[in-house]
Amino acid sequence: MTEPLLKVDQLVKHFPITGGVLGRVVDKVHAVDGVSFELDAGQTLGVVGESGCGKSTTGRCILRLIEPTSGEVWFEGKNVTAMGKTELRGMARDMQIIFQDPYASLNPRMTVGAIVGEALIIHKLTKTASQYQDRIVELLETVGLSADQMRRYPHEFSGGQRQRIGIARALAVSPKLVVCDEAVSALDVSIQAQVINLLEDLQDKFNLTYLFIAHDLSVVEHISDRVAVMYLGRIVEIASARDLYTTPLHPYTEALLSAMPVPDPQLKRKRIMLQGDVPSPIKPPPGCHFHTRCPLARKECSVESPPLKQSSEGHWVACHLRT
Ligand code: SF4
Repeated sequence: MTEPLLKVDQLVKHFPITGGVLGRVVDKVHAVDGVSFELDAGQTLGVVGESGCGKSTTGRCILRLIEPTSGEVWFEGKNVTAMGKTELRGMARDMQIIFQDPYASLNPRMTVGAIVGEALIIHKLTKTASQYQDRIVELLETVGLSADQMRRYPHEFSGGQRQRIGIARALAVSPKLVVCDEAVSALDVSIQAQVINLLEDLQDKFNLTYLFIAHDLSVVEHISDRVAVMYLGRIVEIASARDLYTTPLHPYTEALLSAMPVPDPQLKRKRIMLQGDVPSPIKPPPGCHFHTRCPLARKECSVESPPLKQSSEGHWVACHLRT
């Protein structure tokens, strides 16, 4: 068996909350609470859940943009969580991120050429000025922009074009893993589809591996090989995209799927309305975090936390009733 490109093992991130005149730690936000998964090269894992479920924090901890509280991240057999600054800087070329808001993440005072070319300079990837220019043009054309746009500024582009600039910037260092952190969430549905198609083409061309984070199951359906559903810092279900969309096991996944638009108007899907809001990650409910909203909850659910168990080949679920 080949080793996965990325292995995340019991990742935890708790953000301390300080208070009082002495600024002591009085509580903590349980953003990520023991997340584990593997991702093979050239594959896409979609990570889905409501806002505050810990999916973006998980992505950022993997890249060490945020320091995890505990747990391990392994990339190509190397322990990323144990790396010092120098080793991490070398690793940064292999792991890139595309953010949700491309406008906020693009320096408004830099031209598009300078934004895309910045990493080429930092990592000394081109030797001459003409090589540098040629590479920028190549990157812009790869993402569907043109050479004559390199002297323009981010505000002169539409949201979809700005996301293409963000993608070109990530591609500049020829990464192996790209974390797409809500990369299409802010775009109109038709533009979303164009950017997802572009990401799929780039994956084929460069054998990219994606961790594709979104709050909506419909967004990740076509791009994902596997999908993980998160709730309050934990993975509650993970399976191949086909299994997850056709035979979901966790009541939370069922509720998310029931909210997805059905393309055929003849098909009717019964909407499962969840009661209440997502509880605070400062004091997540005991036992199964989902028990306060679960239509199937029993007494034991509020006491015992269900472990993530394999139900069938590659299909894992954390629910007392569904294994
Ligand atoms: Fe619902 Fe209980 Fe299953 Fe949690 S463990 S999802 S509360 S049935």
